[in-house]
Amino acid sequence: MAAVQRLLRAAASGGAVTAAARRRMGSLAAEQAPSAAPAPKGFPFAAEERMRRRSAAERNVQWVFLGCPGVGKGTYASRLSRLLGVPHIATGDLVRDELASTGPLAAQLAEIVNQGKLVSDEIIINLLSKRLKKGEDQGESGFILDGFPRTVKQAEILDGVTDIDMVVNLKLREDVLVEKCLGRRICSQCGKNFNVACIDAKGENGLPAIYMEPLLPPNNCMSKMITRADDTEEVVRNRLRIYNDMSQPVEGFYREQGKLLEFDLPGGIPESWPKLLHVLNLEDQEELKLAAA
Ligand code: ADP
Repeated sequence: MAAVQRLLRAAASGGAVTAAARRRMGSLAAEQAPSAAPAPKGFPFAAEERMRRRSAAERNVQWVFLGCPGVGKGTYASRLSRLLGVPHIATGDLVRDELASTGPLAAQLAEIVNQGKLVSDEIIINLLSKRLKKGEDQGESGFILDGFPRTVKQAEILDGVTDIDMVVNLKLREDVLVEKCLGRRICSQCGKNFNVACIDAKGENGLPAIYMEPLLPPNNCMSKMITRADDTEEVVRNRLRIYNDMSQPVEGFYREQGKLLEFDLPGGIPESWPKLLHVLNLEDQEELKLAAA
């Protein structure tokens, strides 16, 4: 509950938190958020910090997944969340749940999302706070965030309310990202994600060759496949442009903190998953889990 209240407070008074985070982070954040207000005089940052943050030993992992649309953040974040027993929280899913509801926000969100634009920090933080509150009420500890933070301001707000242990930055060449987004399908009944694209991109102009098998649905999902309204080529290209403008600076924010783990996807899940587990030192964890299954 406390984390949720802090997140809501931080969103409401973004300036104070931003300035506090900036004091800790040094000059990079200052360059990226010139509009933030200065911290109030006498703000007891260090004391408040000690009181409110749980040490990593007292809780589960708090990780963030970054990467362009279509890179596979959701796929790898949800696999890791099952392996580590922590919730996978994707802000894109929270937005789509809201879109599917009859709530007052739905129409406003549809217009923004279908153009590939970012939802306002205020709305996204409200949705995330609600999700965290629900989790805290159910005794959840730790998280893997996917799709948040997407702007430096969101990263500063998050930084002001909790500690992020590690940030995994998934990377893939842009032509492949577009193909993958266009191949995405969702089962309208079970909600699972699939991909009908068979990627076979040649290595050229310094780009690595990439082969990715399609991720086809089982027979019972086949006739219920739908495509996201924001996965048209025009909107995907707009989302990639917005990612480069708004979200790529978030990589710099975490690189400066020494928390960024860069991971170039070597191919599809069969090639990438074992390599990712290796760089995360989690191979033993998976063996234990498989042995227990
Ligand atoms: P992507 O495939 O681009 O990674 P997501 O499923 O993460 O897509 O998000 C879908 C849409 O939801 C985004 O294009 C954006 O409109 C909105 N959205 C999700 N997360 C955020 C965020 N942290 N800040 C602003 N908008 C967001």
